[in-house]
Amino acid sequence: MSMTDSQLFNTACDAMKKAYAPYSECYVGAALVCDDGSVYTGCNIENAAFTPGICAERTAISKAVSEGKRRFTKIMVVGGKDGVIKGTFPPCGVCRQVLREFCDDDFEVMFGVSEDNIEHHTMKEILPFSFSSKDM
Ligand SMILES: [Zn+2]
Repeated sequence: MSMTDSQLFNTACDAMKKAYAPYSECYVGAALVCDDGSVYTGCNIENAAFTPGICAERTAISKAVSEGKRRFTKIMVVGGKDGVIKGTFPPCGVCRQVLREFCDDDFEVMFGVSEDNIEHHTMKEILPFSFSSKDM
């Protein structure tokens, strides 16, 4: 049985609570759904040296790919200052490019604000004119 969008929202919120964000105090959570229905979560993990920090979306995709998953259908992203969700928290440019490596144009990207306030987008919408393996 696959998760509903509202269940996915709550899963991403649980992941957000695990964020290590002592510098920005922005807590972000992601829940990535594989084509077999399995879900991998991620949170942002900051670092005193800043550059080694990683976003929630890339944490989730790294967990999934390292477990052998490469085909994904959708991702839910939530976030907010001090872990309080006040609006959408869209993926950064680096995460969009990393998602693009494994996700097609119709991959669903959801920005969750609450269980019943979820924005639906596609890979193509959030990263138009993208560079991918198809261009190599
Ligand atoms: Zn990012």
